[in-house]
Order: sequence, then structure tokens, then C-alpha cells
Amino acid sequence: MTGPTRPRVTHEVLNQPPPLAGHDVAQDPALFEALAREGAGAVAGELHELGVLAGSAQTQEQARLANDCVPRLRTHDRYGHRIDEVDYHPAWHALMSVAVAHGLHAAPWAEGEPGAHLARAAKFYVWSQAEAGHGCPVSMTYAAVPALRHAPELARRFEPLLASRAYDPGLRVPETKAGLLSGMAMTEKQGGSDVRAGTTRAEPAPSAGPGAHLLTGHKWFNSAPMCDLFLVLAQGPGGLTCFLLPRVLPDGTRNAIRIQRLKDKLGNRSNASAEVEYEGAVGWQVGEPGRGVRTIIDMVTATRLDCVLGSAAGIRRGTVAAVHHCAHRQAFGRNLIDQPLMTGVLADLAVESEAATALAIRLAAAAQRSVDGDSAEAALLRVALPAAKYWVCKRAVAHAAEVLECHGGNGYVEDSGLPGLYREAPLNSIWEGSGNVTALDVLRALHRSPGSVDALTAELDLATGGDKRLDEATGELRRMLNGLAGLAESAGGAGAGQAAEYQARRLAGLIASLLQGALLVRHAPPAVADAFCASRLGSAAAGGPGYAFGTLPDGLDLPSVVDRARVSAPAAG
Ligand SMILES: Cc1cc2nc3c(=O)[nH]c(=O)nc-3n(C[C@H](O)[C@H](O)[C@H](O)COP(=O)(O)OP(=O)(O)OC[C@H]3O[C@@H](n4cnc5c(N)ncnc54)[C@H](O)[C@@H]3O)c2cc1C
Repeated sequence: MTGPTRPRVTHEVLNQPPPLAGHDVAQDPALFEALAREGAGAVAGELHELGVLAGSAQTQEQARLANDCVPRLRTHDRYGHRIDEVDYHPAWHALMSVAVAHGLHAAPWAEGEPGAHLARAAKFYVWSQAEAGHGCPVSMTYAAVPALRHAPELARRFEPLLASRAYDPGLRVPETKAGLLSGMAMTEKQGGSDVRAGTTRAEPAPSAGPGAHLLTGHKWFNSAPMCDLFLVLAQGPGGLTCFLLPRVLPDGTRNAIRIQRLKDKLGNRSNASAEVEYEGAVGWQVGEPGRGVRTIIDMVTATRLDCVLGSAAGIRRGTVAAVHHCAHRQAFGRNLIDQPLMTGVLADLAVESEAATALAIRLAAAAQRSVDGDSAEAALLRVALPAAKYWVCKRAVAHAAEVLECHGGNGYVEDSGLPGLYREAPLNSIWEGSGNVTALDVLRALHRSPGSVDALTAELDLATGGDKRLDEATGELRRMLNGLAGLAESAGGAGAGQAAEYQARRLAGLIASLLQGALLVRHAPPAVADAFCASRLGSAAAGGPGYAFGTLPDGLDLPSVVDRARVSAPAAG
């Protein structure tokens, strides 16, 4: 007689790290030190609240669901009427609710508390570590306000609702909703960087209200298409002009914005990115006719800062994950974290994270002071922000790949969550001005923005004498800047322009690295600053050939660098 067979125990699961969950994502010394020196320490309580939420198993599951159960386009209802709606998984809405309730969108513009923009930046950095995709509409809603203010009447109508802390999804007349979200649409098939090539037309339609136009054309990328309002560029009678398009018109009918399809993207899958066409869609003019780029650039400045914050957040998330894994995983009888070559890799990842966070928060503070009317900080931001957007976002890609490799084969498997981090990493480098475009913007700022060179050198001078390698690299920047000025004076014309453009990436990378180095030398623990200057500013200078993580020079105090990236997580139950 044979009984029921019992499954045979084949093996015990050993040497797998406990899940990194139930921890406070805001256990982040670099973040808190930066906020303290910028006078924003008061936000600490809310950051820990968000940090605990971001690290919870529940939020991690929501992040997974929002990306696995991707948004779905429904173009028509059952009777064949066009509805152009996108359905999101409830997990997306849960993430959005937290972001809006904590004022990560437009709240600081309305609430006006001192330091509100800087506090919002810190919260965005912490909460982005929960899930990156939903940051897109949150960021665009924050950024829309300064552009919208070019049309005071529209701002008066919509700003309070954009700033409301109520998340109220669904397509209804904007004024009847408890809270609004805003997107933007500039990119067309024939050009995204070169938005002046846009072919969408806008014809005046005074019968539809003051400043009203009817838009005909298309946009090739239009993320978060379920937003209530969109800032859109179109060719009006006076040239390229900015317009505000509502999804639902004041009479309750849907505006003629047709969603053609959703993009099948590498990452950022929780967030829908649509291709749209306008069939005489109503738009209200924002800013002066023919000054569309000038108007919408106010939005782009704010979203670029969020790209830097978002990439710094991804770098931090990856660093913590790698350190956690290696602290619990053994190979050849020892924890990985204690094996010299891995210690070097982790320390290098942690140095990148410290540098990214320090620069992101410094720029967020500059943005705050710019809003408060500080022109020197505005001049610094003008040159430092595109440089940081170029460099921090680009470093995020290599960083994510190395983080993944620290996890070995597990890192390559979806369950680990790291493929999502990896797929997300290139995006901040592409949108809101791709690498070359932001590097060229650094040149533009240096040439055209009065005070930017002075503001930059003044910031770097604060660290003079703190580290010889930093001083030398700062000298190299001065030589480059003099060379650029010489080019402009001697040759002038197209030749000088081409020579300058060719150097733009080197210049942008150097500026960002020097700003990072200066901050770390002044404020970070000596081991962090030492490792940064030795690897990023010495012979293996930023952007140098063949630079790989884990190739820091000898003689550095690496364990203490790694230690700062360790978080305590509850033991697995
Ligand atoms: C997921 C996702 C969502 C997006 N959502 C939106 C959205 O909501 N709204 C919106 O308006 N756009 C959106 N975009 C579009 C994005 O902003 C553009 O893709 C980006 O600005 C680049 O434009 P492009 O794709 O036309 O590339 P191109 O402009 O063709 O650029 C191609 C390459 O050429 C480089 N290049 C361009 N000009 C120069 C130059 N002068 N010298 C040297 N190199 C140059 C660029 O850096 C880039 O590497 C989104 C993109 C993605 C990927």
C-alpha cells in the first residue's frame, strides 16, 4: 500500500538577504546635513513620515502593481463615442494620493510658507524612492504654476486648484473638482529639442473666450494624459506661443484632444505617455504671442530640478539596496560588504550618492532663494542647473547598472525591483532637455546670463584651500572659461561657436563635479570628500576614459563611507 506522497524537502533557503522593507527611506545623513545647512531642518518630521511610508511593504507592493498593471487607453465608450480616457491601477491612485496630500505638487506656490519650495524638493526626493513614474504629473503640476502666471487671469482661476492637497482624478470641468493636475506638450514628431520646429497651428477663436484659440496638429509625447490641464506650444499668428488646454471645457464637453495611443516604453511604465492629436482643441493663450518658449521655459526650469532630484533619489535608492544586499550576502565565507573589492564598489556608489544629494539639495535651496528674489542665487541656478541635469542624470545610468551587479543574478530578475530602477535611470537624462541640449544650455548661460560666471566662481571659491585636487580642477575650469571667452573674442562667428559646442559636455560635467566636490569638501565627512576628490577630480577626473565604479585609489577610509549608506531595517519575520 502506498500513502500520499509528501513533497520531499530538497534544500533549505540560505544566504539570501532579508527583504529591505519596513525601513525609513529618510535615514539619510547626507540629506539631513544638507537640509540643516540650508535652514530647512524643520521638514524632518514630515520627511521621516514619508520615508517610513516609502519603505513600507505596502508601498513597495503598490509600486510593483502600478508598474506591472500598466495604464490602459480606452478611446471609445461602448456606444462608439470618443472618450480618450486612460485607466490606471488603484495602486497608481494610492501613490498619487500620498504625493498630493503631502504637497509634492503645486502646494508651495499657494501656501507660501518660508522655505516651502525647498521642503517640497526634499519630500519629492524621499517619496520618489517609493516609485518614480508617478513623479511625472506631480512634477509637471508643480512646474506649471510659474508658466501659468504669465496669464494672470488663468492663474487666478486654476492655481488654487493646482495647489489643492486633494487628489481628485477623473475628467470633469476643472472648476468643479477638488484638485487639478497639469501636464505639458511640446514635443512633436519632427522635433523635441528643437521645439520651434513645431507645426501645430493655433487660430484665434474670440467667440470661445478671451485669448481663446483653436489648435490643430499633434504632439508625439504627452505624458500623464489624464491631467486636467496642459501647457502646449503651437504656432499662432504671432509665432510659437504657449496655450493652456483643458481636457474638459467649461460647458462640460470634452476638448478635442484625441489620444491616439500610449507609448510602449523601456521603463516609467506606471506613467502613461500618449501620442495626441488636436482637432480644433480649445486653448487659452498664456504669455505673449510668439514668446512661447520664453513662457514655457519657466516650467522647464522647475522640471529640470526635479530631474536632478529624481536621479539623486534613484542613486540613493540603489546605493542603499546594494549596501543592504552585500551586508547580508556571503561569498567565499565572508560577507560581501567586507571583501575589499566590494567595499570599494559600494563606497564608490555611496560617494556618487552623497555628491548627487548634496548638489540636488544645494540647487533646490538656490531655487527657493530665487523665488524669494535673490538674484545671485538665480544666476547660480541658471548655470548650475543644466550642468547638474546633464551630469547627475547621466551618472544615474551607470550607477544603476553597478547597483544591479552588486546583487549578482538576483539583481537581473524582476522580483528584486532593480530592473525597474535600471530601466528608469536613462529617462531623466532624456526628457526636459537631453544631455547635449542641457550641456549646450550651460554654454548659453555662461555667455548670456549676466552674473552666472561670477555666481559660479563665488560658489566654488567658498571651498578654496579645502582640497588641493579641487583647487587644481577649479583652475582647469577657469582656464576653460577663459578659453571660451578668448574663442568668442578672437575668432567669433560660426567657428568659435562650433569649437565651444564641442566642449560643452566636458564643461558641463566639470562644472557639476566641481560644485559637488566643493560641497563635499566643505560639508561632508572627510572620508567622503577625500574619496570624491581622489576619484572624480584627480587623474580619473569626471568623464575620463574608462572610469568604472570600484576603481577608487588606495589609502581611503572606505568602510566609513559605506557605513553612511546603511539603513536599519526590521529583521525579517
Ligand atoms: C517617457 C517620455 C515621456 C515624455 N513626455 C513628454 C511630455 O509629456 N511632453 C513633452 O513635450 N515631451 C515629452 N517627452 C519628449 C522629450 O522631452 C523629448 O524626447 C526630448 O526633449 C528629446 O527630443 P526628441 O525626442 O525629439 O529628440 P531630438 O530632439 O531629435 O534629439 C535627439 C538627440 O540629439 C541631441 N541633440 C539635439 N539637438 C542637438 C544639438 N544642437 N547639438 C547636439 N546634439 C543635439 C539630443 O540631445 C538627443 O540626444 C517625453 C519623452 C519620453 C522618453
